[in-house]
Amino acid sequence: MTGSANPLESLQTQLDEASRHVEVADDVLERLRHPKRVLESNLVIERDGGTLERFRAYRSQFNGDRGPYKGGIRYHPAVSRDEVVALSGWMAYKCAVVDVPFGGAKSGIAVDPDALSAAELERLTRAYATELRPLIGEDRDVPAPDVNTGPREMNWLKDTYETLERTTAPGVVTGKSLESGGSEGRVEATGRSTVVAAREATAYLGRSLDGATAAVQGYGNAGWISAKLLDEMGVTVVAVSDSDSGIVDRDGLDPAEVKAHKDATGNVLGYDGSDACTNEELLTLDVDLLIPAALESVIDATLARDVSANIISEAANGPITPDADAILAENDVFVVPDILANAGGVTVSYFEWVQNRQRVSWSEDRVNEQLEAVIVDAFDSLCRTVEERNIEIPRTAAYVLAIERIDRAYEQGGRWP
Ligand code: NAD
Repeated sequence: MTGSANPLESLQTQLDEASRHVEVADDVLERLRHPKRVLESNLVIERDGGTLERFRAYRSQFNGDRGPYKGGIRYHPAVSRDEVVALSGWMAYKCAVVDVPFGGAKSGIAVDPDALSAAELERLTRAYATELRPLIGEDRDVPAPDVNTGPREMNWLKDTYETLERTTAPGVVTGKSLESGGSEGRVEATGRSTVVAAREATAYLGRSLDGATAAVQGYGNAGWISAKLLDEMGVTVVAVSDSDSGIVDRDGLDPAEVKAHKDATGNVLGYDGSDACTNEELLTLDVDLLIPAALESVIDATLARDVSANIISEAANGPITPDADAILAENDVFVVPDILANAGGVTVSYFEWVQNRQRVSWSEDRVNEQLEAVIVDAFDSLCRTVEERNIEIPRTAAYVLAIERIDRAYEQGGRWP
């Protein structure tokens, strides 16, 4: 379920809001509202039965002022051009917030991956990689996983690129499996930063995670890892969901067992001792911490009024619409914005890229320690910006930080042409 709000309009409203607090020229701000370029392709592959089928695919390169374009690839039936452009913009601002030297990009293919065999998905991914080849490269544009893609798809993309280019270039894509040049800690990175950000927000508000309760919407990579790490920190995870349904158990769910149940049955519903709930019910449960980890615009103004959590840490990109943001702020709900909370994914992608370029590999402990330092540092900068500029909504402060960093990189490069 992507809510009805248009994610690109949400991004532009967020930028407008932040622009009231920055001293950046209007013409530069206008430049930062739109993507540099968008590739739109029709991918045609042969289905296992021998017929041909067409799939619409996009790659949006939003901004490259601070380094190579960077962003994941989403496989989902609801993928649209506006969604991909918004996601690419969020990537540019996210990399700036955590000060990772990348720009922002994103890809989407309008496909239901569950309806394709593994062989068909491989043909689709290789067809897409062939289309992307002129645009991507270790120093140009570096894709990564997103919803419904993971190490398998990234390995196929790397192999296609390297075969066509007749070279080895592991840093052309991140989120690969360890055997194909991936990094320790990459699979857990998004959930880890979401949880570190939630922990920092809890301490900032003078609260404690010990004995706190949490609800997690979405039980894929970002959601399940968030639930697991929260559980390890002593938080009681009382509800989780996926696209079919949610489950709730006020005594606490065992995240690893729920994951095993989902792996075995295809969804979280029916997990031992839990009751069913809808995704809307999950988002408004009486919990301390809410982690949206599915898709965009799931908390709109209507639903925001019923949110009971004190803190929201956004694992998903764009889960809260701008009008909902205002209501949550009025109700003293502290929202750690996506462009900081889920930035662990791109931060460890950056670590993976550095390791690939240097042909070395780091230990998991080193990855996790450096990730923690980056997120804590970004959270401190966010709070300083909130306080020094007297900004009410943390998301706005995150955009202020990001816009100023991108603006400085652009201005200092000079104008070309
Ligand atoms: P995923 O494909 O691993 O999991 C997505 C999950 O969301 C699945 O459990 C699916 O069932 C669930 N879902 C889909 N529609 C839903 C709905 N309507 N209601 C409830 N659940 C629903 O994807 P992921 O990588 O975990 O990505 C989740 C979110 O995190 C996305 O917004 C993505 O952009 C963001 N994100 C991911 C990464 C990453 O590294 N994977 C990094 C940054 C941000």
